[in-house]
Amino acid sequence: MDIELGAQLIDSLRIGLILLDHRGCVVSWNGWMKRHSDLGLADVAGRQLAELFPEVSGSRLESSISDTLRFKLSSMLAPSLNPSLLPLYHRPTDRQRDQRMQQLIYVSPLRHDHCACLIQIHDMTSALRRERRLRAQSTRLIESSYQDPLTGVGNRRRFDQDLAQRFRQAKDRQRSIAMLMIDVDNFKAYNDHFGHQGGDACLIQVARTLRDGLRRDGDRVSRYGGEEFAILLTDTDGPSACAVAERLRLAVEQLDLPHPAAPGIGRVSVSIGIAAMVPTDEQLCYILVAQADLALYTAKDAGRNGCMWYDAESGVARPLPASKTS
Ligand code: GH3
Ligand code: MG
Ligand code: MG
Repeated sequence: MDIELGAQLIDSLRIGLILLDHRGCVVSWNGWMKRHSDLGLADVAGRQLAELFPEVSGSRLESSISDTLRFKLSSMLAPSLNPSLLPLYHRPTDRQRDQRMQQLIYVSPLRHDHCACLIQIHDMTSALRRERRLRAQSTRLIESSYQDPLTGVGNRRRFDQDLAQRFRQAKDRQRSIAMLMIDVDNFKAYNDHFGHQGGDACLIQVARTLRDGLRRDGDRVSRYGGEEFAILLTDTDGPSACAVAERLRLAVEQLDLPHPAAPGIGRVSVSIGIAAMVPTDEQLCYILVAQADLALYTAKDAGRNGCMWYDAESGVARPLPASKTS
């Protein structure tokens, strides 16, 4: 290939090329390097990179060049560890804002009379930006796959995952875990009276009230089914769980949402079943759910707008003692 064509090709490449001699001084510097560093071959020829760019001194790039010149070793400097080893800029305006190009750099030995080291620099800025955007998008997608679209609280998939994980932790640490199963009372009649959109609006308010009523980081409300919500409370024994349940029941009552079709208080209310245990090896997490469920249906039978806790000793659900509020 003729020399002029070779030089033109090297200048048209969309990567940076630097050739160094045996002392580490610049012998060649292509057009890409000129465009992105604002320095031409005349400015850099015969000088070491550390002279041109003080930050190269003591950097990974300097030690890679030294390894290449002394031991003929190749290396790759990935942008994840060394994003901007050289002060190169994608566009002139980036220089004013000091937004450096993110670089992937290869340093390799050459067997030539005048050149001992080849440095190739790739601009990774757009690729990394795209990767960051994709990662953020995928995090958002994963989050939304665990969220109930109507109420914004966790969905059933979130609950099932939390249950398995937290139950296992409670068993390993021999700590108590509690569950509240919450069901909106007479909700079919509410829908019949206000229509399904009115019912949806009510569910949103109930979910928000339950979520706002939780005080500990990590406590989470999930929508278990249609008008049923579930809450897991880690490191919580039966009496403490009963106190939380009664506080939540009262908070929904105090929302004061009219429910003309409901017998009794004429307002939207919830019934809550509570179960708590220190899990043993024989117990499966679904036993906790079954116990909270049984307590919930006892609360329904007892007239609704109330809480019941599952008493493991007797295997029946019981009302809360009068003082169980917090
Ligand atoms: P109880 O007090 O015994 O719980 O009576 P209930 O009427 O609340 O219970 P039931 O199971 O008979 O009815 C639940 C109703 O909840 C029926 C169903 O149409 C309604 N529902 C379930 N999911 C949704 C929803 O996403 N939006 C609306 N608007 N209604 C829902
Ligand atoms: Mg129900
Ligand atoms: Mg109901």
